[in-house]
Amino acid sequence: MKGLSKSRYTAFCQCPKNLWLKIFKPEEATEDEGQQARFERGNQIGDLAMGLFGDFKEAHAEKADGSLDLSKMVEQTRQWMDEGVQNICEASFSCEGGYCAVDILRKDGDGWAIYEVKSTSFPKFNGQESKLEKYAPDFAYQKWVLTQCGVNVTGTYLVCLNSDYVRLGELDIQQFFVINDMKEMVENEYLKVPARVNQAMKIINNEQEPEAELSECCMKPYGCAFWDYCKQKHAVPMPSVFDVYGGKGRGGFTFKKKLDCYHQGLITFEDLRTKGIGPIQNMQIEAALTGKEFINPEGIRKFLDKLSYPLYFLDFETMQDAVPQYDGAKVYAQITFQYSLHIKQNETAPYEHREFLAPSDGSDPRRALAEQLCKDIPKDVCTLAYNKMFECGRIRELAVLYPDLASHLLNIADNIKDLIDPFRAGDYYVPAMGGSFSIKSVLPALFPNDPELDYHNLDDRCQNGSDAMTIFPRIKDMEPAEAEASREALLHYCKLDTWAMVKVWEKLKEKAI
Ligand code: SF4
Repeated sequence: MKGLSKSRYTAFCQCPKNLWLKIFKPEEATEDEGQQARFERGNQIGDLAMGLFGDFKEAHAEKADGSLDLSKMVEQTRQWMDEGVQNICEASFSCEGGYCAVDILRKDGDGWAIYEVKSTSFPKFNGQESKLEKYAPDFAYQKWVLTQCGVNVTGTYLVCLNSDYVRLGELDIQQFFVINDMKEMVENEYLKVPARVNQAMKIINNEQEPEAELSECCMKPYGCAFWDYCKQKHAVPMPSVFDVYGGKGRGGFTFKKKLDCYHQGLITFEDLRTKGIGPIQNMQIEAALTGKEFINPEGIRKFLDKLSYPLYFLDFETMQDAVPQYDGAKVYAQITFQYSLHIKQNETAPYEHREFLAPSDGSDPRRALAEQLCKDIPKDVCTLAYNKMFECGRIRELAVLYPDLASHLLNIADNIKDLIDPFRAGDYYVPAMGGSFSIKSVLPALFPNDPELDYHNLDDRCQNGSDAMTIFPRIKDMEPAEAEASREALLHYCKLDTWAMVKVWEKLKEKAI
C-alpha cells in the first residue's frame, strides 16, 4: 500500500488524475525548464528561514542508499519535542497512510505552531490575502497529520518573501521574510481533509487510470505537468483552440474562454473559423488554414515613421535572485549584467556594434553598466527594443539607484520604441509565427532556414535568455578556460539578439513598400 505525502495530497486537490499520473506514469509529465532552478531556490530560502526564530534542530537521516530515512526523522522529531526543543525544522510525522515534514515546528504554549516556508514573494503591508488561498490545502493536510499524531496544533503560518524589502548592507532576515497567519483559510480546508485523504488513498492504490475532463483545474492553482498527455488522451488535435493567441488584458482569449469553446465542440481551427474571436486570433486561424501571409504596408509604414536616425537596437540580459545580493535590490530583482547594441547612424552607414558584459567576479554589475550605457547611447536618440517594457523597466530602476545618471537614463527610456508593435497590431503576420509575437517565434518565421539567425547554431552553453541568466553568476566559480568560453557564449548570444532586431526592422522596411 502506498502512502500519502503533502505533495501527493495537494496534487490530489488539484485533480485526482494528477495524483494518479504522478504515481503510475510520472514519465508523461512535460519537463519544466525552470524546475531545477525553483528547487535550488526553494532549498536556499528554506535554509535561510531555519534561523528565523533563533536556535533550531533539523530532523535529517539517510538510509544506506542515500534516500531519506523517514522513520528515523519521525523518531528524532518526537524525541526533540519531548525534550522541549523550541524550533524543529523538517519536523516529521507519520500516521495511518499519511506522512508530512513541517518546515518549521515551533513550540507555542501548550502546543505547536506550523510554519510553512514558500519562496513566493508577498507584500508585508496591504497584502492580497486571496493569493495565499492556494496554500491552504497544504496547511490543512499538515495540521491533520499532526493532529492524528496527537499534537496540539496552535497555529498555521505561511513564511514567504517580503516583496517590499530592499537590501541595505547585511541581509536582515526578519525583514526579508513576511509571516502570514493562515488560520481562517485553513479552517475551511481542514474539514475537507479526512474525506479527501480517503479518496486519495483509493486513487493511489488503484492501477486503473481514472478519467478526468479538461477543466479550469488544469491551470489552477498551477499549470498541470500532464496537460499535453491529457490533451492527447482527449484526442485534441494540433493546432487546436488551446493554441490560439491569448492576448492581454480584459479582452484576451483566456484559458477559460478556450475551455468554453472546447466544451461547445469548437476545437479545431476549422471549427473556430467563423467564431470571430478577435482580429489577431482570426488572422492566426485564417493564416494557418490557408497558408496566407497578412501584411498591412500602411500600418507598418506608420510604425516606421515614428523612428528616426541614428537608430540604436538594444537588448539586456539579466540575472534574478530570490535573495537580493546587492544594496538597493529587492527580492527577485532583475539585475542587468549585459547589453548588446547595434547602431545605424543613417540610411547608408554600416552597422556598428557595442556591448557590455560585467566582470564575472560576483561584484555588483549595475553602476558600470549604467555608466557605459549613457556613454553608448546619447540623449534624444531613437532606441529600439523588442518588448520594451523589460528594457524600460530595468533602465528606470537604474535611474532610481543612481540619481546622478537619472536624467540621461530616463531620457533613453523615454525614447525607446517597441519593435514588437507592428506584429502585435496585426500589421504583419505569417503562419509560422503560430500565434506568438516573441522574437524567438517571429525571427524564424520571417527568416526560415537562415543559419546566421538560428539560435541553435550558437554555443550550447548559451542559446536563450534563461541560459544567460543561469550561466553568468556561475562563471566566477569556473576554471579559467571554461569561464572564458562561457563569457564568449554570452557575448555571441546577446549580439544575435540585437542583430535579429536589425534583420526584423529591415524586413519591415521591405514590406512597407
Ligand atoms: S491535465 Fe487536467 S485533467 Fe489532466 S491530470 Fe492535469 S489537471 Fe487533471
